[in-house]
Amino acid sequence: MRPVLVINSGSSSFKYQLLDVDTTRVLATGLVERIGLGLGQITHDTLGVKTERTAHFDNHTVGFEAMLEAFKEQGPDLEKFAPIAVGHRVVQGGSRFFEPTIIDDVVEINIEELSQLAPLHNPGALQGIRAARKIFTRVKHVAVFDTAFHQTMPPASYTYAIDTEVAKQYRIRRYGFHGTSHSYVAKKTAEFLGKPLNDLNMIVLHLGNGASACAIRGGKSVNTSMGMTPLEGLVMGTRSGDIDPAILFYLNRVAGYDVDALDRLLNTKSGLLGLAGSNDMRDVAGRAETGDEKARLAIEVYALRIRHYVGAYYAELGRLDAIAFTAGVGENSDTLRLATLENLESIGIQIDNERNSARSRSSRLISTDSSKVRVLVVPTNEELEIAVQAAEAAE
Ligand code: ADP
Repeated sequence: MRPVLVINSGSSSFKYQLLDVDTTRVLATGLVERIGLGLGQITHDTLGVKTERTAHFDNHTVGFEAMLEAFKEQGPDLEKFAPIAVGHRVVQGGSRFFEPTIIDDVVEINIEELSQLAPLHNPGALQGIRAARKIFTRVKHVAVFDTAFHQTMPPASYTYAIDTEVAKQYRIRRYGFHGTSHSYVAKKTAEFLGKPLNDLNMIVLHLGNGASACAIRGGKSVNTSMGMTPLEGLVMGTRSGDIDPAILFYLNRVAGYDVDALDRLLNTKSGLLGLAGSNDMRDVAGRAETGDEKARLAIEVYALRIRHYVGAYYAELGRLDAIAFTAGVGENSDTLRLATLENLESIGIQIDNERNSARSRSSRLISTDSSKVRVLVVPTNEELEIAVQAAEAAE
């Protein structure tokens, strides 16, 4: 048994999961919320037995102490299931980090320095890392970056057509995110098809609250729809995805929006929420079915954007073997999958309606037997992938 503790930390909360990478069995999961915000809550779940407790968590260290307490009281025993590594999810690794990296003081400083590129994400991850390193002193901590998988993109994919000097000085380029999920799903897709990963060209569509498409050639990311930040690309729960950047100048000049208001508008008030008043695809899809016009348009815009990227990446890859849908929307919404890929028989993509609407939690094929491009639903598991990568790096 090789237990790994996976930490996904934000600035006022963190999620944790203890899992055994040998059996992929989850031993415990939990969530510490409202750190530094008055009365907080810890939820600890040991496969069925779930406890909730409220307390004040002044900082992340206090949160981790509460987590240890929960393990002591409710198990599993961290002496018996001692983690061989702690894996930390870090959103932005810049151009510096292209693989899972053992954390030392220098790596911490580098992650801090990258906060400028990811002000909404890296500072919270760093607070989690610092606190966890104080609590788990004898084990290696590994940073697993959302951007790392996309470091294989060629310059033509990651370069924005802006002044080269400005781009260089401010590290403006496409980094891409959701790399852990894209990489996991690519491997699972190859496994499912019984083909070596390095012989396959595929497009992975990660459609959760955040959403991104990734073109993968022989197991390596060659393009992805998120850019310098997670805002670019597909329509998401609350993010706009691609827009004309001149809209920002316009809103500033005509309506007096400042930078923070623009940031909020595009990151937290747009996407499905902006179009249909809810960031939950279940709500929006349900309302679209009952004839709500706003909801219907939202779904059309959402699906059309994905279709654009599928077309673009198909052309880029030249030969396409598989398309894999994953994450909340990708795994669960047959209507959305169909809206994205219907009527594409002429380019070798044919969805089998029965397979598409059958419900299952496992990887499955949803294209017809004669479809040249195999279309699949592949449940993602970012925690498992972080754990596996952390264990490999630590050993
Ligand atoms: P996150 O990016 O936060 O990990 P998830 O991958 O869990 O998010 O995806 C969340 C999204 O998945 C939400 O928009 C939710 O409505 C959607 N979703 C979950 N279940 C379904 C379902 N049965 N049908 C349609 N959408 C679903």
